[in-house]
Amino acid sequence: MYQERVLKHFKNPQNAGRIEDADGIGVVGDPSCGDFLRIYIKVEDNHIVDIKFEIYGCPAAIATSSILTDMVKGKSLDEAWGITDEDILEALGGLPENKEHCSNLGAEALSKAIISYMVNF
Ligand SMILES: [Zn+2]
Repeated sequence: MYQERVLKHFKNPQNAGRIEDADGIGVVGDPSCGDFLRIYIKVEDNHIVDIKFEIYGCPAAIATSSILTDMVKGKSLDEAWGITDEDILEALGGLPENKEHCSNLGAEALSKAIISYMVNF
């Protein structure tokens, strides 16, 4: 039921972990399916030079977070801010319909991380 690319990111997540001296942190929880995501970003010269995530979630949420961090690394804050749920779904090659909400976590957590960076700056 999952696309090959989703399974690949689920089995071998990219950028999983934590950044101790993060410049921004975004947290999102979705009690309806139990997914919980925390994203850490490191910012230099207006670019996201490092990004990691910690997650408690279903395969769709894990794959979403993994591909999002791949997409975002090295991008400017503006570009990262513009990434939507649809961009992530497209990058994954789609998710089963009842799992599409899980992809919303990634973009929301990333936005919150960028906001927390802006506020502290
Ligand atoms: Zn989920």
